[in-house]
Amino acid sequence: MKNKRRIAILGSTGSIGTQALEVISKYPDLFEVTVLAANNNVDLLIQQSFKFRPDTVVITNPDHYNTVSSALDPIDIKVYTGSESLCQVMEMETIDMVLIAMVGFSGLKPTISAINAGKAIALANKEVLVVAGQIVTELANKMRVALLPVDSEHSAIFQCLVGELSNPEKIYLTASGGPFRGMSIDSMYDVSVNQALKHPKWTMGDKITIDSATMMNKGLEVIEAKWLFNLKHEQIDILVHPESIVHSMVQFKDGSLKAQMGIADMRLPIQYAFSFPTRLESDYGRLDFHDLSSLTFEAPDRTAFPCIDLAYTAIAKGGNMPCILNAANEIAVSAFLNGKINFTSIPEVIEKCMSFSPFDPKPDYDSLLETDQFVRVKAMEYCKMQT
Ligand code: NDP
Ligand code: MG
Repeated sequence: MKNKRRIAILGSTGSIGTQALEVISKYPDLFEVTVLAANNNVDLLIQQSFKFRPDTVVITNPDHYNTVSSALDPIDIKVYTGSESLCQVMEMETIDMVLIAMVGFSGLKPTISAINAGKAIALANKEVLVVAGQIVTELANKMRVALLPVDSEHSAIFQCLVGELSNPEKIYLTASGGPFRGMSIDSMYDVSVNQALKHPKWTMGDKITIDSATMMNKGLEVIEAKWLFNLKHEQIDILVHPESIVHSMVQFKDGSLKAQMGIADMRLPIQYAFSFPTRLESDYGRLDFHDLSSLTFEAPDRTAFPCIDLAYTAIAKGGNMPCILNAANEIAVSAFLNGKINFTSIPEVIEKCMSFSPFDPKPDYDSLLETDQFVRVKAMEYCKMQT
């Protein structure tokens, strides 16, 4: 890599954001942080700002603006607040690449702003492509902006495709199966929030951890893969692979298969997106095949985990249906985390929202925003949450 890559991190206080900063500190000659953005975790954001000395910090929630701006007053950092500022900051000349590591629909507008400003995108926030895959990928093509996947399965597919001239015939997204693998839907009825938050392989933010427990995470990843790799949903298959060694696989038209493997560590896909097309040295640990007794694969249980079929239905229908699925899921997950609904009500809320929300076959950004807001209100009513 010739020049230092200047990176903006949206969601710097989260699981992906903090690991991204770890990567950046390992390679101070290659990467530099120019923007940090978060929503509520003021203490960590201030601490990160003193350590990494970005040009600009955005604390999206205006309630925290005074705290952050007075804490950063002694060092020369510009501080802004509000989601509009987050979008405007994307135009800064001192940004080469933006890591989108916020959660949910809130990542969409800043992603569009960053693409419009011609910045390379390292994308962790899968909901952006679930909600608006067509708009985002068309815009990225038009602006000749790279969309580099950070999600481990998509990074795996991306790595398998490097150097290939032909398109995949099929891809396999692997899944750990989550904490409830092997359980029936009836026995999942009264699982607790703590049980659902105990992921067997990864430590991640709460929303994606619950998505992994319902397996909606894999459904969202099917939609994400469709847009990233320009595939039909029929070409995307899910395999439960509890060891989480094979991060995903590509099958080519001659029947040959490529897999990307390694110890599960999110710093690798983050680092690969940051340094692409260069591969950097790392000391993250090595997989020793002599220690592996077996690698196992099984089909997911679609009856126990109805979220998988809901996601396939949404992508097959197209239009604003994946946006409906996503908004209902965001609310249902938050309702479950807040003790308002049972675990098995999550797919029920989503299914209801998908059945009655107005369908739009070719939504633009504004109609997606409208859909998102409409579904959130309805889903909250179902979950008996205050709107
Ligand atoms: P976390 O909940 O750990 O972190 C979310 C981050 O986004 C926090 O820094 C949070 O700030 C910030 N944030 C939320 N809303 C806003 C907003 N409106 N404006 C600015 N910042 C905001 O999530 P994860 O890191 O686990 O996940 C991030 C994304 O990456 C998700 O879409 C997830 O699906 C995806 N992903 C995550 C993986 C993982 O291993 N964690 C793996 C693959 C994909 P604050 O803390 O201040 O509230
Ligand atoms: Mg993933």
